[in-house]
Amino acid sequence: MSNFDEIIEICKRRGFFWPSFQIYGGSAGLYDYAPLGTILKENVYKIWMDEYLKIGAIPYDSPSITPEAVFRASGHLQRFADLATTCEQCKSSFKVESLLSSQGINMVPLNEEQAASLLIDNKIRCPKCGAFLKSAYNFNLMFQISSNGAEKLYLRPETAQGIFVNFKLLITYNRGKLPLIVIQRGKGFRNEISPRQAIIRQREFNMAEVEVFLDPSNKSSFYPYKGELITLLSNDGKEQKTDIEKAFVDGIIGTPEHAYFMEITLRIALRMGIDRNRLRFRQHRKDELAHYSSDCWDLEFQLDEDWVEIVGISDRGQFDVKNHQNSSGQNMSVGENGDIIPKVLEPAYGIDRMIMAILSSSYNKRDSGYKVLSLKQEISPYVLAILPLQKKDGLTEKAQEIFNAMRQFEPRILFDDSGSIGRRYSRQDEIGTPYCITVDYDTLSRDIVTIRERDSQRQIKEVPMSSLTVGGPFLNNDILDRFK
Ligand code: AMP
Repeated sequence: MSNFDEIIEICKRRGFFWPSFQIYGGSAGLYDYAPLGTILKENVYKIWMDEYLKIGAIPYDSPSITPEAVFRASGHLQRFADLATTCEQCKSSFKVESLLSSQGINMVPLNEEQAASLLIDNKIRCPKCGAFLKSAYNFNLMFQISSNGAEKLYLRPETAQGIFVNFKLLITYNRGKLPLIVIQRGKGFRNEISPRQAIIRQREFNMAEVEVFLDPSNKSSFYPYKGELITLLSNDGKEQKTDIEKAFVDGIIGTPEHAYFMEITLRIALRMGIDRNRLRFRQHRKDELAHYSSDCWDLEFQLDEDWVEIVGISDRGQFDVKNHQNSSGQNMSVGENGDIIPKVLEPAYGIDRMIMAILSSSYNKRDSGYKVLSLKQEISPYVLAILPLQKKDGLTEKAQEIFNAMRQFEPRILFDDSGSIGRRYSRQDEIGTPYCITVDYDTLSRDIVTIRERDSQRQIKEVPMSSLTVGGPFLNNDILDRFK
């Protein structure tokens, strides 16, 4: 089994995520977050939001259902499409770009004719049944939904437009000042031609977008602040391990704000526990850029053999604000003389893919064969489990009593008394719980417990119960230091 398959197996068995609507056969590209995954997802969002609030961002929350006028102005109606092909024999559909890249041809066809010629000339076969693929067509990725009025409605493919259309209200809220950073979490919907790899390519997914509005004529107030080492793969094919500030000074990254937000993105990924050695920034080739973008650096994560985009940091320029000004007839300009149309830099985070990168980075197998998720405490669904050594002699009741008391000040806490203690430890290891407290006979007689740490599997015995509630969320520093 690949690393990816092993993680998916744990996630489904333990309750991080499950395919949706399974009793009716499921539906491609739709996944539920199960109980553990739901908490983990909130922890991921919290770190993302914390890091942006720290730099003065303001949060926002607009609807998923969006009227057609918005997407006509933004260009999505006309251009948010992939070139697709459908096998004449088995009727399966595929994205042409993915079929070409699986054959080592890294290009995005310009139109239907070119896509069809590339399929034919390279003798590309259907991955399902092996028949030759011969034709291609444009497939818009937006879901149109039925409405009871004349107005056409769509599910948003990105959260960004909800921010752009209300830019004037947001800038007024910000007392007219640029730069303005607006953040929004929410669902994105894309009718992917071939959803796959569980939560990696879904039709409904979790996004966290940031729109940074800047005065195009002013020197940027953002500058990369320190030198994190990271691999950069620029669109001239050059790959180098460098720091982001140097990459900006050397002209590899075009603007200081682009470099600054790449740095923030890296910081967020590392704080979440994503493995630095499996990350790189890759610049889009010109033919890959979305219709609104003039330059884009993706943060990519290595999952088995593949590099997967987890965040796209795109220079959208004045494209969106200008288009909404022209289409709506509303003045969107700002500044003392009312003549500034801001430019926009957009870091767009795919939360599901970040979750996959976190799980993959923290997954390991012990020599014994037992599996562990070494999740950071900030990220793990639960931080602590209370386990009675045995289910007799009042140990369960004592453990339950401790659990009820501790839960008041640390809600991410579990109680487990089913199966042997060894099994319970390995269950907690698999769901990433960093600490377990074992309640035994000494707890009854002397008010002391045993604390076990997940990664080292070390146990500290004779910890006085009084120290559990003092000086921190659940363990004081004296105890934590003893695990170091
Ligand atoms: P984009 O606007 O295409 O750059 O998308 C922003 C982020 O959303 C990407 O970096 C991905 O992490 C994520 N994403 C895009 N499409 C999907 C999808 N179909 N399923 C899950 N995540 C996605």
